[in-house]
Amino acid sequence: MKYIVALDQGTTSSRAVVIDEKGRKVAAKSLEYKQIYPQPGWVEHDPFDILNTQTETIKLAVSLAGIDPHDIAAIGITNQRETTFVWNKETGKPVCNAIVWQCRRTAGEIEKLVKAGKSDMIREKTGLIPDAYFSGSKIAWILKNVPGAMEDAKAGKLLFGTVETWLIWNLTENRVHVSDVSNASRTMLFNIHEMNWDKELLELLDIPESMLPKLVDNSGIVGYLKKDVLGVEIPIAGMAGDQQAALFGQACFEKGMIKTTYGTGGFLLMQTGDNIVESKNGLLSTVAWRINGKTCYALEGSVFVAGAVLQWLRDELKLITSAPESDVIVKTVSDTAGVYLVPAFTGLGAPYWDMYGRGVMVGLTRGATRAHIVRAALESIAFQMADVVETMRLDSGLELNEMRVDGGASVSDFTMQFESDLLNMTVVRPTNIETTAMGAAYLAGLAVGLWKGLDELAALWQADKTFTAQMPRVESEKRMKKWHKAVERAKAWAEDDEE
Ligand code: ADP
Repeated sequence: MKYIVALDQGTTSSRAVVIDEKGRKVAAKSLEYKQIYPQPGWVEHDPFDILNTQTETIKLAVSLAGIDPHDIAAIGITNQRETTFVWNKETGKPVCNAIVWQCRRTAGEIEKLVKAGKSDMIREKTGLIPDAYFSGSKIAWILKNVPGAMEDAKAGKLLFGTVETWLIWNLTENRVHVSDVSNASRTMLFNIHEMNWDKELLELLDIPESMLPKLVDNSGIVGYLKKDVLGVEIPIAGMAGDQQAALFGQACFEKGMIKTTYGTGGFLLMQTGDNIVESKNGLLSTVAWRINGKTCYALEGSVFVAGAVLQWLRDELKLITSAPESDVIVKTVSDTAGVYLVPAFTGLGAPYWDMYGRGVMVGLTRGATRAHIVRAALESIAFQMADVVETMRLDSGLELNEMRVDGGASVSDFTMQFESDLLNMTVVRPTNIETTAMGAAYLAGLAVGLWKGLDELAALWQADKTFTAQMPRVESEKRMKKWHKAVERAKAWAEDDEE
């Protein structure tokens, strides 16, 4: 038996998963690491925390699996996207902490770009809506604010990378400096038509090209894991950003297939083949993957708070003691008694993009109970993703009849059924919902010949539960209408709070 070790470097933990050649999970190990909040709205990670926890999980997972490292055919990497690292090429020392995707410190700089009329150009070239979320303005911030950084960067002494770049540079003997095209497409510096770093954008943000990693396909050997980790060199052969990896792990290999990840936030990606679909309604166009030089694109819509609404019910409101308890409570009532909860705690994502939106709960009457509120919270997860799917239907002109789901909150049968009802769509949950790691493993396994092609991978994917619409259309349409009314109440709420 041969194995792949998939590294899943996430925002709160580093994880390694050992997967066998039949696509089965053999063992997994996660380690959490520190979140650093230097100021309100700022988020950082210590680059060495990331490297050390990730390296440790490789050793722990392989030992837990009880396998001989010689039987590991390849390593695959998937990662939190956009998080930005800048380090010194000679010393290997980061010039500062990594700036995390969530960090809002460059919002002002982005506003300047927007005011200067650069939005259309950025959108056209990168497929992205200008935002502090992406790596570009974070690199610019580092060069401007870390003493000596700009000088060193101009002298060719500094390197930039997203997480996979940083890990590979550190985990290979000869310091390989690469980025895969799916991660590159999240930097706001990458031209998705030309599939290259864009000189005009680099100039606009004043970033020297010499810092940028060499671009590579998502599947292919880029280097070898150093011997000192597992006692044997192992090819690093696949990588992709987490959402793209999940799309691949869900075997969405045909144009028009979609997957939604219901994690802390919610992420919907639709495979659009070799077409770059330009959204008119607030979705992003992004690179899904490039294999053997052939690029496949995706349309992406994300919401900030999905499963996290249950963490709020648990930790702040103390209405539940655990997320799974919500599934029990929800069955004690037949509806929400007219309660709607819009969890716009950090603003509204796709398709609204309203950073001043805030959470609201409306429709309360004297009879509203804890169970109604819990039910409204679960429904809010489905409503938000339903808005994204409807937008995708509009932008793509496709009917979209089926969606594959994964992530922690996808285990909620109630929520998945409600989603299916709202959208009149079949919702399918696979047996293995660890699709992010699977995607990275598949990309790596393909490169070393462990799997022969996409057909073989598609056959490894197995449905666990299928949800089909049960609710009459008039009823679901009525609920969507009411939901939109609630969203109107949430919009622009904090607009006048800014100084
Ligand atoms: P991430 O990878 O974004 O950290 P996960 O995919 O691990 O997230 O999912 C975690 C989320 O899943 C949490 O926000 C949690 O509230 C939610 N969750 C876990 N179990 C359930 C459940 N039974 N029903 C609904 N949501 C759940």
